[in-house]
Amino acid sequence: MSDVIEIVLLPSEQHDELVIRRKAARQTGLRTDQISHIEILKSSVDARSKQPVFRLRAEVFGPGEIFSPEPAILDGFRPVRSGAPVVVIIGAGPAGYFAALELLESGIKPVVLDRGKDARARRRDLRAIQQFGEVNPHSNYCFGEGGAGTYSDGKLYTRSVKRGNIQKALRLLVEHGAKPDILTDAHPHIGSNKLPGVVQNIRETIEHYGGEVHFDHFVTDLIIRDRQISGVVATLVGKEDNITREYAGDAVIMATGHSARDIYRLLHSRGIRIEAKPFALGVRVEHPQQLIDSVQYRQPVREDGLPAASYSLVCQVSGRGVFSFCMCPGGLIVPAATAPGELVVNGMSMSRRDSPFANSGVVTSVEVEDLQPWMKHGPFAAMEFQAEVEKKVFHSGDGGQKAPALRLTDFVKGKISGSLPRTSYIPGIFPAPLGELLPGFIYNRLRDGLHDFGRQMRGYYTEEAIVVATESRTSAPVRIPRDPETLMHPEVEKLFPCGEGAGYAGGIISAAMDGQNVARAVVRVLKKE
Ligand SMILES: Cc1cc2nc3c(=O)[nH]c(=O)nc-3n(C[C@H](O)[C@H](O)[C@H](O)COP(=O)(O)OP(=O)(O)OC[C@H]3O[C@@H](n4cnc5c(N)ncnc54)[C@H](O)[C@@H]3O)c2cc1C
Repeated sequence: MSDVIEIVLLPSEQHDELVIRRKAARQTGLRTDQISHIEILKSSVDARSKQPVFRLRAEVFGPGEIFSPEPAILDGFRPVRSGAPVVVIIGAGPAGYFAALELLESGIKPVVLDRGKDARARRRDLRAIQQFGEVNPHSNYCFGEGGAGTYSDGKLYTRSVKRGNIQKALRLLVEHGAKPDILTDAHPHIGSNKLPGVVQNIRETIEHYGGEVHFDHFVTDLIIRDRQISGVVATLVGKEDNITREYAGDAVIMATGHSARDIYRLLHSRGIRIEAKPFALGVRVEHPQQLIDSVQYRQPVREDGLPAASYSLVCQVSGRGVFSFCMCPGGLIVPAATAPGELVVNGMSMSRRDSPFANSGVVTSVEVEDLQPWMKHGPFAAMEFQAEVEKKVFHSGDGGQKAPALRLTDFVKGKISGSLPRTSYIPGIFPAPLGELLPGFIYNRLRDGLHDFGRQMRGYYTEEAIVVATESRTSAPVRIPRDPETLMHPEVEKLFPCGEGAGYAGGIISAAMDGQNVARAVVRVLKKE
């Protein structure tokens, strides 16, 4: 019988197979040459003591014991038959692409439509935002192949346990080019230099097995008769004369992400129920990475082999949570607006996480009770509030994507900074009265929360850190309801709201898993017919 053991390694030893084998032998009582295989099950950094270490949980196979890896998921894929049911998927983000893979596994043909461009062509539009402040409303950090997940930080952890099979989503990412480490790391991460390749490989799989993927297809209407959806209308982006195309389907999965405001408006205008949803809003805080490393690892300079350190902080201010969100160690702050005239920041990183900056969202929850003046907008109350903040912040600047910012200490003291330190944010920052630009209740909670974070984490509260506005696209401000059993919209047969935009996911992996769950629900309905 194989043994499951814990192996403790110094950072310099983490990839040293001989050391790992020796330590495994010592613990199991085997000789090193008797060990036939060591399977790493989990790997995490433990920085609680003075010397940070890696803790591996590993299964050790002795003489004659055979380790048999699971067969590849893609080995079970077959081309869809002609005449197979067709499902239209709106959105090529993690929810849409993983729904497409799941449908293919069940012999159903997915047709994916996305308003944006393929992952490679999208890069030019990201450069235009970074360098010239020009935001293409169809191709940006949120819209295009792979959705908001492609040019992101690529953290793959999720707090979701109930959504089921995290491992299947991770294994599919590995089968499409991600490093196998993500299967065992306690905090798996891919990085923006690797994600576009993975996403393009997923598209190739979809097409290889008989699905379709169409870019520059902006879904502008839904074909609904007798409360049942039978397809969508897409307007071709970049073509003159508003050329439209209809796509028929036996079901429609709507996976359009948290920034597709036009989709929410379309649903409302068609009389389909949507609801205002709480979300969170705040700022991005950036420290020198070296400072975060020295606090978390208690070493003046991070030892070779240790990853860029991160933090996770939370406190309560006046009964509401203030929390760090989407931390990007060794990363960059990026402009994540989806339309001209708004300013939104977020974070991304490369796989090596080697930039000299550590940034994290610091946000506070916005509940429906906070939104009394916006309630006149009905289901759009939270969305209109979010849009208003983004516009106000944009108009404080020079008409581009330069962002208002303050030193952390000045933000807390309510002062304008005389100067600002270096930042990773390429469009640039300028000192501005964030206490006036942000809604009062948001600013007050963030100010007290950030002060509290300084007490929780020695060194955090420093004038070397900056606060940049505004982190507003944390989750969808609108929910598209669905029946908990069928996962269909309660008012429209065969319409399946899905992923972050519908309010059922937050992050790459949870969106991917929601895509898989929704696809299974679609299969159940179509197989009954
Ligand atoms: C900069 C950044 C960094 C992030 N970092 C991380 C991270 O490290 N880890 C993590 O877990 N999460 C991260 N996130 C969040 C994560 O990307 C999202 O939670 C996830 O992508 C949601 O997946 P989704 O498929 O539901 O929607 P999305 O990824 O938003 O995809 C929706 C897709 O729908 C398309 N679409 C919208 N409207 C239409 C329409 N009318 N017609 C056709 N297509 C349409 C869009 O073009 C888009 O491609 C980050 C987000 C951003 C912006």
